[in-house]
Amino acid sequence: MLAGGVSSDARRPTPGQTPVYVDHAAGAYLWDVDGQQYVDYVLGQGPMVLGHCPPEVVDAVAAQAGRGMAYSAQHELEVIAAELVTSLVPCAELVRFNTVGSEAVLGAWRIARGATGRQRILKFEGHYHGWLDAALWSLHPAVDAAGPAARPVPVPGTGGQQLSSGTDLLIAPWNDLEAFRALIDQHGQEIAAVVMEPVLCNTGCIEPDPAFLEGVMSLARQAGALVIFDEVITGLRLGTGGAQEYLGVVPDLAVLGKAMAGGLPVSAIVGRAEVMDSVTLGAVGHAGTFNSNPIGMAAAVATLETLAGRRDEVYPKLFGLGSRLRDGLRAIAAERSVQLLVDGPGPMVQTYFTDLPVVRDYRDFAAVDKVAAARLHTALLQAGVNIVPRGLWFLSASHTEADVDRTLEIVDGILANW
Ligand code: PMP
Repeated sequence: MLAGGVSSDARRPTPGQTPVYVDHAAGAYLWDVDGQQYVDYVLGQGPMVLGHCPPEVVDAVAAQAGRGMAYSAQHELEVIAAELVTSLVPCAELVRFNTVGSEAVLGAWRIARGATGRQRILKFEGHYHGWLDAALWSLHPAVDAAGPAARPVPVPGTGGQQLSSGTDLLIAPWNDLEAFRALIDQHGQEIAAVVMEPVLCNTGCIEPDPAFLEGVMSLARQAGALVIFDEVITGLRLGTGGAQEYLGVVPDLAVLGKAMAGGLPVSAIVGRAEVMDSVTLGAVGHAGTFNSNPIGMAAAVATLETLAGRRDEVYPKLFGLGSRLRDGLRAIAAERSVQLLVDGPGPMVQTYFTDLPVVRDYRDFAAVDKVAAARLHTALLQAGVNIVPRGLWFLSASHTEADVDRTLEIVDGILANW
């Protein structure tokens, strides 16, 4: 038996909800074992930016499966994949592959510590950097345990966590430059890296104010701290260059995952050569049996080549579908007098039940109505629409305007009786 019936806590059904057992997926759809079809806005929690089973990726994986599944040696596909990444992602001069986002984040932190000779990492409240002990701090803490809004304290995310793993962390509120400045004034010389989801996607979907991001970059640099963008969600989603291209801001290091390999477990630590040199020269260790696994690399090359080759068609389409869904949801909420805030950039749409005009940080997110969000999620699922339970909707290149319009009709039906 599976503990709790799932293999990841992100898949635990809300109490009373029947979990979805998937039979198969294709394009923008999932089918469950009872034959029910769902328009899928979860996309495997993000990876399927081209939709499920893109033929280029399926063919590349099938072809590679007959040529070897694990070499633990160098091979051509990893070189091609690295060249594609460096050509697409602005900060990427050198690349090391891993399998999942959580380990690559900690690899990037190690590289930053090695490169600066400093120990502390500054992360933002509400930002998710994987499920491992060192990173799972102050994701969604109880507000009464999280300290003042302008000076949050580190709060562990789970039972069983190694509490000493948080002693080097500093926690800052998102979108509050004065709070960030105060932390840098006090601790700037101790900080190896400032890490962020450059568009916060795990606590609502919240872009940085341009002045905030600019201030963070320049204050971090003045203090000699590196900046790490965790682009596990935003990479290849907001454009082939991810959030760095979308926001026009280039970090020292970045972490990619999810969308880069069409559903196969591939992640990457990328960065400026000068910073990555600690790995090149062997001063900072990095390893992994499945790193640059040939099946994953075949999928990555096929995905990256497809996204790069079809860039001018795929991203305008993704952004157009995102706008259509956001506009439609806003119109329905207004028509039905439901306090639904609809936000998010490009192909990410976030719905919050709140009377706030905007959600700017974790403390705002903590105040939105989670019960209503769960109710909407359940109602959508029953009607054949699959969204991330916290109110996040991902669009893929396989979705169509007709899918979005059909979804909007379903939402209208739900909110009509809200
Ligand atoms: N960083 C971010 C921003 C993420 O969204 C996630 C996963 N949702 C991770 C890191 C961890 O990636 P993985 O689940 O592949 O370990």
